Amino acid sequence: MKKQIPHGLKSIRNDKVKKFRKAPVAYSVPKLKDFSAASLDKAADKLRSALETEAEAIDTWDQWVAFRDRWVARKNGIVTQVRETWLKNAPPSAKAGVGKAFNATKKLVEDTVDGKRQSVMRWAEERELGPPEASKRGFSTAKEAVRAIYQFERLDITLPGIPRPLGAEHPVIKTMNEIVSVFRNLGYSVQEGPVIETDYYNFEALNFPLNHPARDTQDTLFIANQESKPVRDRLLLRTHTSPVQIRTMEKLKPPIRIVIPGKVHRNDPPDASHSPMFHQIEGLAVDTNITFGDLKGTLDHAMKALFGSSVKTSFRPSFFPFTEPSAEMMVTCFICGGSGKRGSEPCRPCKQTGWIEILGCGMVDPNVFEFVKDNGYDPRKVSGFAFGMGADRVALLKYGVDDIQLFFQGDVRFLRQFA
Ligand SMILES: [Zn+2]
Repeated sequence: MKKQIPHGLKSIRNDKVKKFRKAPVAYSVPKLKDFSAASLDKAADKLRSALETEAEAIDTWDQWVAFRDRWVARKNGIVTQVRETWLKNAPPSAKAGVGKAFNATKKLVEDTVDGKRQSVMRWAEERELGPPEASKRGFSTAKEAVRAIYQFERLDITLPGIPRPLGAEHPVIKTMNEIVSVFRNLGYSVQEGPVIETDYYNFEALNFPLNHPARDTQDTLFIANQESKPVRDRLLLRTHTSPVQIRTMEKLKPPIRIVIPGKVHRNDPPDASHSPMFHQIEGLAVDTNITFGDLKGTLDHAMKALFGSSVKTSFRPSFFPFTEPSAEMMVTCFICGGSGKRGSEPCRPCKQTGWIEILGCGMVDPNVFEFVKDNGYDPRKVSGFAFGMGADRVALLKYGVDDIQLFFQGDVRFLRQFA
């Protein structure tokens, strides 16, 4: 960035009465006759005294800028010339000594240039921006005024800024937020948990028997080298957000109503409808006397809030280890309105059936409550329902995207369409 002359200093320069000074004889870097210590000392002395004389003569900002450029400009400044003519030409045997002398000279020049800059600034403070003058300019103290000048020097505030394009919510996050807000309005609170889980929370406490195929490495991504640990302590990337149900029930006594949005992993090769990483939202409600009717009513309301009041819901029996009974819920296709057709074309998202399978749900299995019985979840006293859906899948359907990979490739051209 081009250095600007601070505004205040420009007027100082103009107002100042310049004293006549004898122009110093311009110093130029001599070639060294030999590279002995004595010869080096002599040359360094000459340079030092030239530096001092020139520094001495500086009164104004402009003079300081010229001084700085003459001595430390990267291209052909005196320091650069010293390196080129002394250091580079030194024979190997003298390299170390010349190097040392060069470094000392370089530091001296830089310190002098910087010191001079500070004294020019101080001068400005005393002459131009004494306390009365500073306050006239809107600064409460002279110190503050000088600080402002320093900033002027570093930063040209008249340059246009670098425009930073405003980002937009990622379609998956947007979808998750919409789902969360529907349940928030029903009095649910949001809970989160770790993505790296133990077998205990991911499987055992959710009533997965020890030989359940989900534990297979073909389905689940395990952290390596844990064979020496007991199975329940082994770490894995959680395959669903359900462990947070257990973690929350360990923490909070019933009644609870929670939604759990989060990232989950499965050992699935990526294709148009699978990704090894995806997002789920699940919910859990536990209280006394919660029935399957509550589950149906809640989810029917949620789907209408999400997809429009005209969607209908339908349940069909299913199986999950942690719910009993379990169901899959379908909603009427919100793309074709349940007709299975879009004009004369078949509706692909619902495969012309007019229904879309949207989530899994069920009544919490009493075996799950047994794991958190001590915190008030006695299966003889409480009941509850749970449900879970893939946020990415909902986003795919909602936005008519045909490949889940597009969500995670970070292609701005794709993501920009949702802004
Ligand atoms: Zn359809």
